[in-house]
Amino acid sequence: MERTEIDNLGEFGLIKHLTKNIELQNVSSIVGVGDDAAIIDHFGKQTVITTDLLIEGVHFDLGYTPLQHLGYKSVVVNLSDVYAMNAIPTQITMSIGISNRFPLEAVEEFYEGVYAACEKYGVDLIGGDTASSQKGFIISVTAIGEVAPGAFVRRSGAKKGDLLCCSGDLGAAYVGLLFLEREKRIFVENPKVQPDLENESYVIGRLLKPEARKEVIEFFKENDITPSSMMDISDGLSSEILHLCEESALGCVIYEEKIPISEDMKAAAFKFEIDPTACALSGGEDYELLFTIPQSEYEKLVLNEQISVIGYMTDASEPAHIITKGGSKHAITAQGWNAFKQK
Ligand code: ADP
Ligand code: MG
Repeated sequence: MERTEIDNLGEFGLIKHLTKNIELQNVSSIVGVGDDAAIIDHFGKQTVITTDLLIEGVHFDLGYTPLQHLGYKSVVVNLSDVYAMNAIPTQITMSIGISNRFPLEAVEEFYEGVYAACEKYGVDLIGGDTASSQKGFIISVTAIGEVAPGAFVRRSGAKKGDLLCCSGDLGAAYVGLLFLEREKRIFVENPKVQPDLENESYVIGRLLKPEARKEVIEFFKENDITPSSMMDISDGLSSEILHLCEESALGCVIYEEKIPISEDMKAAAFKFEIDPTACALSGGEDYELLFTIPQSEYEKLVLNEQISVIGYMTDASEPAHIITKGGSKHAITAQGWNAFKQK
């Protein structure tokens, strides 16, 4: 494979090379890459800003993460935070720290993923920063979005009696991670063994190439639904439920049988002899949306197969808890529901 040293290009050459084909797609993107700062005009809308830092060895492992997927994911996780505010992402900035371990070809591959995500979600890359790092790859993405004045949705707006809902299915990314970590261990012990991941493409895809729930926010808009509270599920359902309850000063009850779990994830979890519900509660990186709506909106929600009602909000006198399939009741803890882990 070709290897072009980045030193040959220099910092400005690299930036130019990486950004030369940008065509701005949003009217709000007034000035993009190439000046001291970008300019955005949101024409009377409100602006949402969110940023995330990803560090090699902490947030990702290049041993099994293709650079293209990493570029895609580093954008998507930020867009997910914008959608979680009920806003539409419009721009991102991308800052990278790279060591001389990475040739130009590697950074190009990473940017292929970045641009693929920008195209899919209709956002413009309008700037960033480029620096060298002593060791490892560092990625910092900022996403900017717009929302009609006052239409943003916070974690704190849930009301007693509201339905607690989530999108998609949960826990698959965590099981995907277990597979990749296992294959990595096997590979380290014996590099000749070919990875055995053929049947696990769904769970591994959920980890390596997550999507943000754009269509759920569009569904809300089309059907005139405003969630009373919302957040994205990046750290596992139980931890997010506790945040939402705390911010809204409420408790809740959820039903194990209502937690959406895919057949692929269930089959994969059984291979590790772990409980699928525990994966959904404690696993992370699903990037689904967790939200509450008034019960009066229930009829509208039924239209969407992507959405599951998993429980409802109670007052704070009773802390968040789960009713199992067997009918027993357990407090939800940040690590998930401990009873599952003891099995
Ligand atoms: P300054 O020194 O004014 O910060 P830079 O030389 O760092 O400017 O950046 C020049 C232009 O390129 C700016 O518009 C900046 O936002 C953009 N840029 C820098 N690094 C990247 C990157 N990794 N990806 C996308 N745009 C970048
Ligand atoms: Mg700069």
